[in-house]
Amino acid sequence: MSTLYLHIPFCRRICTYCDFYKVGATALLPRVVEVMHREMQERAAVLHSPRLTSIYFGGGTPSLLSARDIQGFIDHAHALFDCSEVSEITLEANPDDLTPEYVAALRTTSVNRLSLGIQSFDDRVLTFMNRRHTAVEAEAAVERLRAAGYDNISIDVIFGVAGFGNTLEETLRRAVALDVEHISAYHLTVEEQTKLGLMVRKGEYVPVTEEQSEDEYLAVHKALEAAGYEHYEVSNFAKQGRRAQHNSAYWTGVEYLGIGPGAHSFTGEKRCWCTSSVKQYAEGDIQFESETLTMRDHLNEYVMTSLRRKEGVDLDYVERRFGASERMRIESAAKEWIAAGVVEARASSLAVRPERFLLSDAVIESLFA
Ligand code: SF4
Repeated sequence: MSTLYLHIPFCRRICTYCDFYKVGATALLPRVVEVMHREMQERAAVLHSPRLTSIYFGGGTPSLLSARDIQGFIDHAHALFDCSEVSEITLEANPDDLTPEYVAALRTTSVNRLSLGIQSFDDRVLTFMNRRHTAVEAEAAVERLRAAGYDNISIDVIFGVAGFGNTLEETLRRAVALDVEHISAYHLTVEEQTKLGLMVRKGEYVPVTEEQSEDEYLAVHKALEAAGYEHYEVSNFAKQGRRAQHNSAYWTGVEYLGIGPGAHSFTGEKRCWCTSSVKQYAEGDIQFESETLTMRDHLNEYVMTSLRRKEGVDLDYVERRFGASERMRIESAAKEWIAAGVVEARASSLAVRPERFLLSDAVIESLFA
């Protein structure tokens, strides 16, 4: 089983906090789309399994693609891979791109899941983040998708934003009221090379304290669980049966092929990523870097992705794949976290309690080989 990821690193406007690879001018988009088809053709064979289970359009802003271009990629995937078991095709979208005309055109494609970058329902916060939409526009976009028949919608929200009072409560209330199938909640992080990083250096923005972060994370966890969402991964909440299949495949070590400037691929033993700039890529010059994973890398990766998920580390699997000594080492290192009530020890697994997921990075680091 494999998955396909299509990366569209273009944005009409750059958000204050964003350090993803993207460019703010869209003139090269048509040429990049052409080269992406070529890359798909040339690299389809790197996957050991040609059977796809999901396709994901990420970015950047994939909703800058026309419906025709979106379906063009999906049709090309059908020509190159066995897509008979593809059950999820997701498009990340900015709410303001979802005009009635765009949604109607999108409905003619095979996209069956939308992931909307809403981030906040407080217009002051949206302005601070330099987002292109307002809270009301975001709600209208979700309603429009519903009216068009979409029954699998995810929204992103950001918490841990300083300086706007208790804005999170309202954001959670309105997010829940939309009754979407999936919610991703991320803490606002300050990356050095962003406008937010500059604001922090100039003293114009003071990030929230660690204590506030923990309080807000817990507030998100409680509000969404109370509304019927399962907190199944550090940043992800789903209604029953609505976990993100594509992302879940990443977290369980499934192979994926990433196409486009900056996209990453994973083929079981190797990870590679496209280093070409958009300009270079548009000229047809596709460059990669890669690394071959050692057994230790595989183990650490398994520990990392497992402890970020509700299911946790399967100790029997660790023993089978990496040896009894690794199982014992992990069990021993986890003792202090179990005693502190952060990690739960089950029959043959160890899992971070969802309400303590914020500590998962520290737990992961202490359990690394
Ligand atoms: S739309 Fe997304 S990718 Fe583009 S700048 Fe904003 S956060 Fe970054």
